[in-house]
Amino acid sequence: MAGKIILKKEAEKRLRSGHPWIFAGEIASEQVQEGPGAVVDVFSSAQKFWGRGYWNPQSQIRVRLLTRKDEPVNEDFFFRRIEQCWNYRKRIGYTENCRVVFAEADQLPGLIVDKFGDYMVIQTLSLGMDRWKATIAEALQHIVHPAGIYERNDAPVRELEGLPLVKGFLSAPFPTTFQIEENGLKFWVDIANGQKTGYFLDQHLNRQAIAPFVQDAEVLEAFCYTGSFTCHAAAAGATHITAIDASAEALRLARENARLNGLASRCSFLEANAFDILKQWAAEKRKFDVVILDPPAFAKSRQQMQSAITGYKEINLRALKMIRPGGFLITSSCTNLVPADVFLQIIQQAASDARRQIRQVLFHTQPPDHPIVWTIESTAYLKFLIVQVL
Ligand code: SAH
Repeated sequence: MAGKIILKKEAEKRLRSGHPWIFAGEIASEQVQEGPGAVVDVFSSAQKFWGRGYWNPQSQIRVRLLTRKDEPVNEDFFFRRIEQCWNYRKRIGYTENCRVVFAEADQLPGLIVDKFGDYMVIQTLSLGMDRWKATIAEALQHIVHPAGIYERNDAPVRELEGLPLVKGFLSAPFPTTFQIEENGLKFWVDIANGQKTGYFLDQHLNRQAIAPFVQDAEVLEAFCYTGSFTCHAAAAGATHITAIDASAEALRLARENARLNGLASRCSFLEANAFDILKQWAAEKRKFDVVILDPPAFAKSRQQMQSAITGYKEINLRALKMIRPGGFLITSSCTNLVPADVFLQIIQQAASDARRQIRQVLFHTQPPDHPIVWTIESTAYLKFLIVQVL
């Protein structure tokens, strides 16, 4: 046994709900013989076995539990967990492009695995999980049989765990820019240089859901990344889409994606700060039938929550001002730090300030390959809302 952690009694109530994180302040004593990343046994204050997880003395999240059972955490353990993940995706028909492992929601804290056609992208975002990277890659090869695996471990959160930022192949090299298909459209994905794992799989149902609202509409989209919503809007019959992003690299792929689907004549792309453009165009009283907003997570920590709320309010307020009566605002938020009820309040506040009456016509969260565990807040992050401006 690499180590033993004893919990403070006060911590037990929170942990009993099923949350796998144990914070430094919740530990009464720790005796660990191995270094950071070691798998340790956790005991209650009454010395009863509580679970087993990995330990990092450098992180505020001191232990992340892998299991509540008294079972060995070894290669077999990871093979079985990954097999469970893959069996669930197969069962729900998510085998082509999907999130195969969604971290805490799949009982594999700190591990993200996305599949894009024949290829897989992994992120081991915590030290304890990073130590099992080779085992995880082997398990994926054995269970899912991808043509190649790439690691996108350049995510800044790794620094909080004392991990280096790295990316590269965990298999024989392969071309890292390739096409995938979503809802009958084709998209170029760049897994080596794109954002996060290269493509935002979590909005795939929501992209499909916009079809009835964008038909014959003049659309403005801000934060378009590689143009997935843009192409979906054009394919669904929007007359024109003006799409904005701050990243020249993302827009290069967005233009190619519009061309690839024969939709380029109805799409124009603009490299700019969306905050500036929304402010300017709202002031100029420019009008659109539909505005689509899918900004990055404005809040990455609780301290940033207020500025995130201000950011969401501002862009949604400007957007609402530009929407013609009868038109739609299609708006998202992808941070778990702004819960759904708060997000809806922000939109209502933005509508009141913009002097617009609105009604909710659709409200979605994540697709089933990104399951939500209610007792683990970080697993519920996506809000996708469509409101009509009356
Ligand atoms: N809707 C996209 C995902 C958007 S991700 C999709 O479905 O794939 C968020 C995007 O916002 C990124 O492409 C990022 O480059 C862009 N971005 C971040 N800050 C921005 C800003 N201030 N102005 C414009 N774009 C910004």
